[in-house]
This record gives sequence, structure tokens and C-alpha cells, in this order.
Amino acid sequence: QQFEGDESGDRTPRQTPGKLYSKAIPTPVAAPKLLAWSKNLAEELGIADPSTEDVQILAGNKITASMNPYAACYAGHQFGNWAGQLGDGRAITLGEWGVKNGIFELQLKGAGPTAYSRHADGRAVLRSSVREYLMSEAMHHLGVPTTRALALVETGDKVLRDMFYNGNPEYEPGAIVSRVAPSFLRFGNFELLAAQGDKEKMKQLIDWTIDRYFPHLTEEDRILTWFQEVVDKTAFLMTEWQRVGFVHGVMNTDNMSILGLTIDYGPFSFLDHYDHNFTPNTTDLPGRRYAFGNQPSIGYWNLGRLANAISLLFDDTEGLENALDSYEKIFWDYYYEMMAKKLGFQPPGKEEKKIIARFEAVLSSIQPDMTLFYRLLAEIPSETVPETLLNHFAPSLYRDLQPKEQDELVALLTDYSKMTKNDGLSEEARKNLMNQTNPRIILRNYLLHEAIEELERGENKLFVRLQEAMKQPYATDGFEDFVKKRPEWAETKAGCSMLSCSS
Ligand code: AMP
Ligand code: MG
Ligand code: MG
Repeated sequence: QQFEGDESGDRTPRQTPGKLYSKAIPTPVAAPKLLAWSKNLAEELGIADPSTEDVQILAGNKITASMNPYAACYAGHQFGNWAGQLGDGRAITLGEWGVKNGIFELQLKGAGPTAYSRHADGRAVLRSSVREYLMSEAMHHLGVPTTRALALVETGDKVLRDMFYNGNPEYEPGAIVSRVAPSFLRFGNFELLAAQGDKEKMKQLIDWTIDRYFPHLTEEDRILTWFQEVVDKTAFLMTEWQRVGFVHGVMNTDNMSILGLTIDYGPFSFLDHYDHNFTPNTTDLPGRRYAFGNQPSIGYWNLGRLANAISLLFDDTEGLENALDSYEKIFWDYYYEMMAKKLGFQPPGKEEKKIIARFEAVLSSIQPDMTLFYRLLAEIPSETVPETLLNHFAPSLYRDLQPKEQDELVALLTDYSKMTKNDGLSEEARKNLMNQTNPRIILRNYLLHEAIEELERGENKLFVRLQEAMKQPYATDGFEDFVKKRPEWAETKAGCSMLSCSS
């Protein structure tokens, strides 16, 4: 910890001007119970299966001499508005863990109040912790840049949320997720220092960030090149979310990783039916600022806030503005590359780009299940008789199509079939490319909801199966019961389609 922090260990919520963190000791919990352990990640980190003693650490009940627990101070823009100081209100970093492929931070989310808890309790409920645990690991297996989850511990304490979950105000079981990432630094860490006008600390934080996470940047004016890389990583992350149909739900600048990782899993959702306007966050209505189709623009807007923050160190901001402007081209380049893979094309030329745009238009209008549709597309019948085609895609449709919609779909699929026959890729190669790009198994919100209900009743069958299934999102068979449309009952049920921020 090379930075200036508040070492008092005081948990009273407060402003900590000039400090980049506050010492934060986790608050002990009653009866820790290990609910999940990511063997995968543990192996990567060289950590053995946890003993009873270790579970105490994962629950925040035990701190060892080598740990230096702290909560980071950051700021941010929430729903487009400046929110001032925020900080880790319920995440406490225990320390760093060095392995062959780098240094990782280990953080307990839900470990009790810190200087940055404002008016909240510093805790997390089981349902949101299960969601973060499963989803961050699932995103890793999907190949999307993300923070990871090492363990999920039920605390044995009850937590009260200001919502009517399941129709009643009730105490819910508390839990703690241990999260792992090379860094949890956010755009908001830099915004904090800009708001304080602290050039010296801004320079210190940026130099540290580059030395540690962008060590290949050694040139004189490397801050600009670094920002350019953050632009690039953010654009890439946005296309990856579009690829798998992930909607984050709360893309505030305090939830934007400086490393381009998916971070802070809250009211997220995968798309079921294909809808650019879909937001899973009830707090995001009616504006739909964080809707699926808006995410790339919000990525750009958030980068603008970061550029504005670090402009503190620039006399001339033209370079920064140019780097920010480059986002659009970088995004579209990544996007077409990604879409070409989804459709099983070689690098896209003019014709491919045209048909990509047609797919967007037709999918947006008929709104099939995105995941099922792309897997069916890989198996498109060679015979393009309209009826054969329509029958083939029927399992992905949520409603009957109008005659005009049927015609458009058939015309598109017919043109697509012709194109793929002449593009130099074999059928086999096309299918492989598509099935490595388009997941077959995604963690749909209703599945998470059912697993959580079971866990709250003390059963873990579905939870265990989801942990297995999410490790093989692209497999061609297995877990057939997860490969189907969202059932009708889940469309409007709280927690199955939309969620609140309260967690
Ligand atoms: P989020 O929208 O989840 O990223 O949270 C925004 C801010 O609120 C962050 O600074 C969190 O640390 C803080 N926060 C959220 N929930 C809690 C909680 N239960 N207790 C304390 N702080 C919280
Ligand atoms: Mg957050
Ligand atoms: Mg071909």
C-alpha cells in the first residue's frame, strides 16, 4: 500500500478527503458455512481446498498477520449524475496474492460496514451473492473478461433489505462472496482525485496502475497511450457483452473496471428474447439508460468521464479527445469481427456487413430467443424451403410470426445460406466457429431464481448443477433442461426477469 490511507480502522461512514483507502476490518459473522468453492480458480491461484479454519477467513471472522484489509475510496457518476464520494461500502480487500501469472487481489463482498457504507449495512444477501458467484464464474467460462469468485459463504446472520422480496418484508440469509481480480480499480478511483483537484495523487495512481497492469507502456507520454488502451479494452468488453447477450444493469462509472473487466454483478441479466431496449434493472425504468443496446454508448460516455478526470494532468486535451473519439471505430471493428464469428463468416467484407445489419433488424423485430436462435442457425437446413426453415427456428420463437415477418426471416436465411456456401469456409468449419462463439448454455435469471429458492430451503441440487453446466457453455450436448426458452411464468415474476438494485 504505497498510497495515503486512513489507518484508524474506524467504521463510521464519513468523507475521507485526500485518502485513497481506509483500513477496514471485517465484522465477524455468527455461523459461517461454505456453500461453494471454485476449484478451477483455486487451482489457478495455487490455493488448496479450504479447511474449517480457512472458512473463517472467507467469512471475515479471521484476519492473519500478513493481511492488510482495506476499503478503497472512489467516486463516480450514477445514472448520469455526479454522485461524489462512494467507495467500497461492503467490499473489503484482504490483500494480494502473487502467483506465476500475476498478482491478484482477494476481496470479501458483504463483510460488514466500512468508512464508505454511507447509510447501508455493509452486508449482502444470499440471493445476490449466489448470483454474483455463479455469474462471474460463468462469464469466465464464456470467455468474457471478468472478475472471478473463489468462494461463497453463508454467514448465519440475517439481513434486512428495504424491499418486498417474495411479497413480504423479511429478513434474508446473509452471505459473502470472495472475489478475485488483478485489480478492482474503477474509473471512479480516478474521478475521485479529479474532484479533489489532486494532481500529485492522480499522477501517482496512474503511474502505479501503468507500472503494474500495463507494464509494456514505457514511452514518455504514456498516460495518453494508457488511456487509449483503456478505450480499447472497454470497447472490446462491450462487444463481448453483445456477443453473449449480457446486460450489466448498472453501468455507473464506479462499476467500470480500469482493466476492462465485467465488475460488480447486481441486477444483471442475459437476454432471453432479442430486444435492444431490455434492461433488467427496475431502477433503470423508464429511462432504460443501461438497456442492452445502449451499453456500447454508455461505455463511451463513461470513458468520457474518465478522460475528463485525467485531463487534470494535461495542458492540451486534444490527444485525449482524439483517443476518446477513436472509440467508435474501435468498437465497430470489434463488433463486425464478433458478429462475423457469430454468423460463421471469415473476416467481414461489405456483403457480410450488410447481412449482419439485416440480422440485427430481423432479430429485433421478431425477437426470438437470442441464444437458441444462434445455435439453431449453426444447424440451418441445407434445404431452404420456407416451411422447413420456419419449423427449424420455431423452438426459439416466443410468438407466432406475421406473414410479413415470416417472409423477411425466410429471405434473410436463404440469402445467408447462399453466402455461407460461397465464402470458402467448409460447413464443418462454419459450424465450429459458430458453436465456439454462440453459447448454448447461459445462466438465465429464472434458473438463478429457482436455484436461490432451493438454497433458501436448504437444498442445493440445482445450484450444484448450474455450477457444472456453466463450465461448458459451448458444449454440443448435456444439461438439455437448461437449453430452452424462459418459461412464461418467469416473464413477470420478480427476480426472474427484472431485479432491483437492492442486494
Ligand atoms: P452498486 O450500485 O452496487 O455498485 O453500489 C454503489 C455503492 O453503494 C458502492 O459504493 C457500494 O459499496 C455501496 N453499497 C451498496 N450496497 C451496500 C451495502 N449493503 N452496504 C454498504 N454499502 C453498499
Ligand atoms: Mg459498485
Ligand atoms: Mg462456407
